[in-house]
Amino acid sequence: MTVITGITRGGVEWTPSFVITIDQTSCIGCGRCYKVCPRKVFELIDRDELDLDEIEDDDDDFDDAPGMVMNLADALDCIGCASCSRVCPKGCLSHQPSPVAA
Ligand code: SF4
Ligand code: SF4
Repeated sequence: MTVITGITRGGVEWTPSFVITIDQTSCIGCGRCYKVCPRKVFELIDRDELDLDEIEDDDDDFDDAPGMVMNLADALDCIGCASCSRVCPKGCLSHQPSPVAA
């Protein structure tokens, strides 16, 4: 499989690692990923807006927790810089290289 690769100004090849998912059961809504992201990937939403049937969690407290949680507004806008994962204190974000579109 051929994946999307970039090249630095100095001519070094690198492989972008695109954000795929957020573990919203671990997210504390701190907003660090939102602030560091150069694109429009994230949105902070109220936990009330989550579809809890879509989230697999073993923690009953999660369902009733108040406050905000990060959500992927447009994952396809990601450029794969991985800055969000460097600043996330809870390790919520998962990344993958992406295949080159045929
Ligand atoms: S990898 Fe970079 S562009 Fe993608 S969501 Fe994280 S900070 Fe934003
Ligand atoms: S940095 Fe991590 S814990 Fe903070 S809002 Fe983003 S995903 Fe949630």
